[in-house]
Amino acid sequence: MMEEVKIEIHNCPICGGKHTYDLKVERTVVLKAFTMNDLKERPQPVRLTQIFICPVKNKKFQATIKLYQDSSSIIKSVKVKGVLQDETEKQSRR
Ligand SMILES: [Zn+2]
Repeated sequence: MMEEVKIEIHNCPICGGKHTYDLKVERTVVLKAFTMNDLKERPQPVRLTQIFICPVKNKKFQATIKLYQDSSSIIKSVKVKGVLQDETEKQSRR
């Protein structure tokens, strides 16, 4: 199962600005018998370290992002598709 997720990096370590990235998250859907416990289950946060590219300086940096998973949809892989918008650039034009 593929899912598209938008992630905001508020403090880019390269330029200090805010960037929004488009991620592709692949999940493994676990089929199991449905129990009452599943209704109570809350998604658990998962921390993942990814390589991002700062669109301002065009340099790579590592950032840890937080995604959620539950026992029926385990995160298998995450890929950074690209940057969606550059807030820093917009703000400097004002
Ligand atoms: Zn940046």
